[in-house]
Amino acid sequence: MTTYRIACIPGDGIGTEVVPAACEVLEAVGAAHDLEFRFTGFDWSCERFTREGAMMPPDGLDRLREHDAILLGAVGYPGVPDHVSLWGLLIPIRRAFDQYVNLRPVRVFEGVPGPLRDASGTDLVIVRENTEGEYSEVGGRMFSGTPDEFAVQESVFSRRGITRVVDYALDLADERGRSLTSATKSNGLIHTMPFWDEIVEERCAERPSVSWESEHIDALAAKLVLDSRKYDVIVASNLFGDILSDLAAGVAGSIGIAPSGNIDPERRNPSMFEPVHGSAPDIAGQGIANPLGTVWAAALMLDHLGHDDAASDVIRAMERLLTDGPRTPDLGGGATTTEVTRALLDLL
Ligand code: NAD
Ligand code: MN
Repeated sequence: MTTYRIACIPGDGIGTEVVPAACEVLEAVGAAHDLEFRFTGFDWSCERFTREGAMMPPDGLDRLREHDAILLGAVGYPGVPDHVSLWGLLIPIRRAFDQYVNLRPVRVFEGVPGPLRDASGTDLVIVRENTEGEYSEVGGRMFSGTPDEFAVQESVFSRRGITRVVDYALDLADERGRSLTSATKSNGLIHTMPFWDEIVEERCAERPSVSWESEHIDALAAKLVLDSRKYDVIVASNLFGDILSDLAAGVAGSIGIAPSGNIDPERRNPSMFEPVHGSAPDIAGQGIANPLGTVWAAALMLDHLGHDDAASDVIRAMERLLTDGPRTPDLGGGATTTEVTRALLDLL
């Protein structure tokens, strides 16, 4: 029996509905694979911010460090500005634990028609740089309240930061046996993106086994909608990767299914797994949130912990569930979060 300590941060809104579902799935699949999960719950959220003035306690990162992995729902709720919840919890965790890869697989499952003409068979992964780039604290605002007021937001791209995420994406493309696409915008962003392109080219030149191409982010967005099947691994900067992964999740039928792993590939720190979606205040409390994004995130966690057999069991159960099982309203069904979770547990 292998035991894992998992930190659970349900967060806000539907985060508190989907994380318990994923924990139940982990317990069920764990029982079949001789794995034990010890969950520690943390109530870090916008509610906590409103009560105590901070999303997490001052020793929050140290407490997370004692765990093998982190399972997160989503943070953000009306009344607390979104940049407060993001920079008060998610971004500090990603950076403190150097989770520099944000892995976001996208699949069009059988039984879930994408909204487009024909996206069936789509199976791609977005590798998003997760610690630098456009998400930066460098910048500021001047001349507030005057007609001359302006804001500056700098981006920070480092050789080390680009190299390591591109290498990760190349390893993944090699493993999957297909190809790599790099998202750029070197026509408009004339300092950072040419630097990104240069390093991509250097790293790809050392990996002749992977075929690759570079695409401008705007054209790539259109092509993802028109021909998503053609893509395998897409490597992108922090902001581009964020936008592309919601777009691709939409192509796949619902952002309620899409998972995300914030990974420290060197395994010096706990990695963090979460759905791509947010706290969905519009449906929070109704019991109808799709738990599958968080369940798939839990499968990514199993894979990361070295249990790809347990991860495959979860994915196979999801595939079967999506073919003819109950589904939540985002997928056109009428089932609740609990009903979908029960059906998935039965399949496991
Ligand atoms: P959202 O993902 O919360 O919701 C977008 C739409 O998708 C909504 O209509 C919602 O009902 C639907 N949806 C999302 N997840 C679903 C699920 N599991 N099942 C069914 N439907 C689902 O995005 P938003 O509305 O832009 O943001 C809401 C809040 O979440 C904001 O405060 C935002 O900052 C936060 N947010 C947090 C994270 C995170 O914690 N990683 C990510 C994105 C957004
Ligand atoms: Mn996002």
